[in-house]
Amino acid sequence: MKQAAVSGRIRHGISRLRRFRSLLAVALLLLFSNKTSVAQEPAFKVLAFYSTDVEPDHVHTANDALAFYRALAAKNNFTFDSTTDWTKLNESDLKPYRLILWLNNFPQTPEQRAAFEKYMEHGGGWLGFHVAGYNDETTKWPWFVDFMGGAVFYSNNWPPLPAKLYVDDRAHPVTRQLPATYDAPANEWYLWKPSPRLNKSVHVLVTLDPSNYPIGVKDILTGGDLPVVWTNTKYRMIYMNMGHGANGEKIYSDPTQNMLFANAILWLGNQK
Ligand code: ZN
Repeated sequence: MKQAAVSGRIRHGISRLRRFRSLLAVALLLLFSNKTSVAQEPAFKVLAFYSTDVEPDHVHTANDALAFYRALAAKNNFTFDSTTDWTKLNESDLKPYRLILWLNNFPQTPEQRAAFEKYMEHGGGWLGFHVAGYNDETTKWPWFVDFMGGAVFYSNNWPPLPAKLYVDDRAHPVTRQLPATYDAPANEWYLWKPSPRLNKSVHVLVTLDPSNYPIGVKDILTGGDLPVVWTNTKYRMIYMNMGHGANGEKIYSDPTQNMLFANAILWLGNQK
């Protein structure tokens, strides 16, 4: 009788343990499947446009940018697509993308330009590098000059050279973790006239430190206000002049500057 009661309690205990185990299994399954579904949902989608039939240094830097942003997308849960087909700059192909990149070129046809204007005027995002922001009297795209904050290409140093940059605003999400100044890898720096800083809608984030002047050998910049990274606050956009490495010095080799590149895409992509 006593023995039967003990074995009954043991049996009861075992069945409780089984129930607990199956509940635990269900709970773990729910937790796991929930985590899986969160990981499968990208935060936003990016489409990078670039060209392979432009200056070789611009192509090399675009390839480095693609590798950098693909790795960043894998770590930060966003989708990163790329194309050399600029005809994809149209309303229906742009629709899925929260943000587009121009790595080393800009659109040439009226149709592509019109599609870009519409995309940006309706809340699209843009991150442009180096020659992507280039414009002069031959470009004939006034909307784009305004979009760039009025900045028109004026001059550049040659060859590409490293430079000390200073961070104008260390409270902005794109530049928050950066030091007050840093030494950037070699780049062909563009001087703009007028400087976009004169535009009230422009917020300059990074500038070439005047201590670099004179900079260049064949083409020498001797002075002037040279903003390197800025946003036109009328749009969800950032322009960054980096994009022309040389002599084996790679634009995407500096951890400080790479933080700036990462911050820019995440800020543009995650903005409401
Ligand atoms: Zn260049």
